[in-house]
Amino acid sequence: MLRTHTCGELRIADVSKTPTLCGWVHKSRDLGGMTFIDLRDRYGITQLAFNMETNPALCERARKIGREFVLKVTGKVIERSSKNLNIPTGEVEIEVTELVVLNESQTPPFTIEENTDGGDDIRMKYRYLDLRRSNVRANIQLRHKMAQQTRSYLDSKEFIEVETPVLIKSTPEGARDFVVPSRMNQGEFYALPQSPQTFKQLLMVSGFDRYYQIVKCFRDEDLRADRQPEFTQIDCEMSFVEQEDVLNMFEGLVKHLFKNVKGIDIDIMPRMSYADAMKYYGCDKPDTRFEMKFVGLNDVTKSKNFKVFDDAELVVGICAKGCSEYTRKQLDELTEFVKRPQIGATGLVYAKVNLDGTIKSSVDKFYDANDLQKWAAKFDAKPGDLILILAGNADKTRKALSELRLEMGTRLGFRDQSKFSCLWVTDFPLLEFNEEENRYFAMHHPFTSPKPEDIYLLDDNKLGEVRANAYDMVINGVEVGGGSVRIFNKDLQKKMFSILGFTDEEAQSQFGFLMNAFEFGAPPHAGIAFGFDRLCSLFGGENSIRDFIAFPKNNSGRDTMIDAPSAIDEKQLKELGIKI
Ligand code: ASP
Repeated sequence: MLRTHTCGELRIADVSKTPTLCGWVHKSRDLGGMTFIDLRDRYGITQLAFNMETNPALCERARKIGREFVLKVTGKVIERSSKNLNIPTGEVEIEVTELVVLNESQTPPFTIEENTDGGDDIRMKYRYLDLRRSNVRANIQLRHKMAQQTRSYLDSKEFIEVETPVLIKSTPEGARDFVVPSRMNQGEFYALPQSPQTFKQLLMVSGFDRYYQIVKCFRDEDLRADRQPEFTQIDCEMSFVEQEDVLNMFEGLVKHLFKNVKGIDIDIMPRMSYADAMKYYGCDKPDTRFEMKFVGLNDVTKSKNFKVFDDAELVVGICAKGCSEYTRKQLDELTEFVKRPQIGATGLVYAKVNLDGTIKSSVDKFYDANDLQKWAAKFDAKPGDLILILAGNADKTRKALSELRLEMGTRLGFRDQSKFSCLWVTDFPLLEFNEEENRYFAMHHPFTSPKPEDIYLLDDNKLGEVRANAYDMVINGVEVGGGSVRIFNKDLQKKMFSILGFTDEEAQSQFGFLMNAFEFGAPPHAGIAFGFDRLCSLFGGENSIRDFIAFPKNNSGRDTMIDAPSAIDEKQLKELGIKI
């Protein structure tokens, strides 16, 4: 090894040792008589001291060294006269006696600091430099630890890690596939997997019983904020289980990760039906770090000549505790917030429960003190509280109020990223109607089993009412995982495809391999996949997944460092039989 110690290792107890360190020049300070260099590696920073009086030649050399040069130094550990107690090595420095410049460096295009001066684009172009920043590196290390702990937990539960192919077959259901042309079978294409779904089900037919894989998945979707075209899942499947078994097993995984990666005990992981999530939070991934549940108000608002409420399919509100003193300006801000096109509400009604118990609303013209007391009672609102109400089409209004609830949660400091609230959302609808295509789509995927007690609804043509044995894990309002109990009966699977608009021939040609496999003794099975990047960013207390991926793509799906995607030459195209 070129070094005896790392740059994060030396302490006061090491004084008078003569270590050799290697690393990058983080910073240097030339004070005339003394030159100091902070030497950095993955483990930390150690201060190097060069003394003009005792070793002028060496000090002269040190003065010429620039940022990010790679050095190898030997010297004596001495106690620092001015200590830096912010870093673990801050009580000592190395009085350098030997200095080797292992490599020079251009001045980096941005500072290698936690708070860098580099914008997103430049950081991505020079990602290898960006990864030198201690916070970005810490994120990647966190990811490593998450993967290790995931493997350790699943291994302890008898799960077997199996790799599934990356070159597979394109299927129409789900998101858009990335495709790869086949040179040997010209005119034909592989697809990159959106998930190993069918393979993991086949592994259950094969008797593997418990499978997992930390696996890359690919979806060619328009990149909404913070989505990556390639992302990683913790993908799992189990045989001879019911929904409850899966929930318990993976609740165990998440608890294990919190405990072993963050030292946090999560004791409760409540369950909530999709129907309740929509009713009380207006969305299927509620942030349960705070309550502020929806309360329906149609019954106490109607027939008072306020047309907006009378005409509304849904009148619904939330109660923000302690906000009755909100100023005109703050209320205007909230109104502006809900009227933004992304939120789409037409207006906001408020009622302030004043400290003296009287209630002042923005619709006093229509509702008297008595009416308003009825509203307050519905929320169990106390003096000092603020009631915020939206009205209109049920779906849209719920969505808008859900956004307003999150906004209020943020304003009130309830969305602390170091607090975690986990939740299972269960009983999702099996099917979702798509107006544009005028047909039903599987809400999760076509292999998800309806709840046995709802199967009759499939025959009654009440497709929208069928609930699935499907579940999501939600942490702090983020969907981190989802899965389902699978169909393992060939006829039910066939029926599902036909409901989704596949002819028998189409179903056979696209998913025949699975349905055929179901004829050879398929066990009951169920599974789940966690979005690994998202889980890591959540554990890291950040919103963006980008900095938890070593080499991510930007918002247009480009890797600007290697400049991909890129054109390929004529010859390659010809070999593939592709004309442009
Ligand atoms: N394959 C599913 C997905 O990618 C997860 C599952 O059902 O296990 O969302």
